[in-house]
Amino acid sequence: MKAIILLGAPGVGKGTVAEAIRDTMGLTHLSTGDMLRAAVKAATPVGLKAESFMKRGELVPDEVILALVFDRIDRDGKDSAFLFDGFPRTSEQAKLLDEGLARREGAVDRVVLLEAPRDLCIERLCGRLTCRKCAAIYHARNHPPKNPGRCDLCGGEVVTRPDDKRETIENRLDVFKRQTEGLIALYDGRGLLARVNSAQPKEKTIADTLRALGGSK
Ligand code: ADP
Ligand code: ZN
Repeated sequence: MKAIILLGAPGVGKGTVAEAIRDTMGLTHLSTGDMLRAAVKAATPVGLKAESFMKRGELVPDEVILALVFDRIDRDGKDSAFLFDGFPRTSEQAKLLDEGLARREGAVDRVVLLEAPRDLCIERLCGRLTCRKCAAIYHARNHPPKNPGRCDLCGGEVVTRPDDKRETIENRLDVFKRQTEGLIALYDGRGLLARVNSAQPKEKTIADTLRALGGSK
């Protein structure tokens, strides 16, 4: 089983890059944020537990996340190659991911760290619009949907996420610094980390990510 991780602060562009490379590279995109939002929308037990954490921009407890991730991995089968977006986010999640992968004869193959200045992340998140149905990502100024409020891909409703407001954005960036940034040194130390500049135009960031993963372009 193959596992690639997209690491980076909120707003750096993980979701956008994942959307663009998953098909080219034949990867199964696993976004814990998207899975949690779907659970909240469907009011499942996981959704009910996660909602208050997400609203505040805090992390959902590790055990909830791990159950969600390995359920999905086991449903998709051992032969899949996964692209993790927004996971792992704590050193405990990273440890449990290693253990879970090892039990399934897999390991983390590569980690791409997307990097951009904090101000740029804030600007991207402040204008971000998300499809409620398929999770496609837009931006009010830089990349609006063709029909206002409607997803170009699926016609679903395009909205501002409840956590994409100024105070929550600041908190999510602080939470990243406090709880996730340590994973950079962890994966770098294992020789798995590739750094990609995500302050560039989207096409350039996508091409650099593909190159870092050996997926041409
Ligand atoms: P972003 O990276 O822009 O903050 P995500 O969609 O990845 O957006 O995550 C949104 C929220 O979902 C997070 O603020 C957190 O509450 C929750 N979440 C997502 N992934 C995880 C995770 N791996 N561990 C804990 N909480 C998570
Ligand atoms: Zn859509």
